[in-house]
Amino acid sequence: MRIDVISLFPEFVAQCAAFGVVGRAGERGLLSLHGWNPRDYAEGNYRRVDDRPCGGGPGMVMLIDPLRASLQAAHAADPAPARVVYLSPQGVPLTQAKVRELAGRERLILLCGRYEGIDERLIQAEVDEEISIGDYVLSGGELAAAVVVDAVARLREGVLGDAESAVQDSFEDGLLDCPHYSRPIEHELGSVPEVLLSGNHAHIAAWRRMQSLGRTWQRRPDLLNEAALSKADRKLLAAFRAGLEAADEPADAPREPQVLATQGKKPL
Ligand code: SAM
Repeated sequence: MRIDVISLFPEFVAQCAAFGVVGRAGERGLLSLHGWNPRDYAEGNYRRVDDRPCGGGPGMVMLIDPLRASLQAAHAADPAPARVVYLSPQGVPLTQAKVRELAGRERLILLCGRYEGIDERLIQAEVDEEISIGDYVLSGGELAAAVVVDAVARLREGVLGDAESAVQDSFEDGLLDCPHYSRPIEHELGSVPEVLLSGNHAHIAAWRRMQSLGRTWQRRPDLLNEAALSKADRKLLAAFRAGLEAADEPADAPREPQVLATQGKKPL
């Protein structure tokens, strides 16, 4: 997969992608990351990439032409068609489903803004979609681009040692992941749950599913409203809740349990 990043600080994104599985994906040729700096395409002695906003007001706006020339250079660098994504707090929220969709493409161009953002005319003319990484404002799109690169790259075939591990991650089936344990079995901070030591794969799978359902119910009840739960899932969740009540653990009670019953869906 090829990802081009258009940014005043392209090295920032390259550095973020230089570590761990994503870094190794780059070394193995599974991900090819290219940076384009609009300043290299700006004219004049000062290589100006921004100017004051029309109509007045604070801040600066990124100019059309240096960005447009960078985009043209990025498009021309490879014949494969690229989807142009502008990282913006006004974009659609990034979800795992969106990440999977992007990971299915062979080429992406990620456009990073700075200052007050980019001249709207460039967005209208050149951008295919806008993506936000959350309801907060960053000083630039580079961190958001690095998030997209990381999340997308790890879903590409061959990047993770065990592709199954990505399938079991949070959000993949609409639920949060179950808790994980490793050695030592006994530790001053606690013991590993016995079922995980039983060797009984069916029991382990059922326990993990129950934990996944329970955690989602406790932490993200909004996700449960969207998840397609089977009859067996509902039983597992009831068992999880009964276990909590028996252990008398009110501290972990769901924050908004009423959400489950308020959206016209069968209460759990
Ligand atoms: N004036 C803009 C607004 O309020 O919508 C914010 C501009 S922000 C200071 C500068 C750049 O950071 C944006 O052009 C965008 O590329 C990036 N950015 C900021 N917050 C972001 C977010 N939540 N998700 C993705 N990109 C973001």
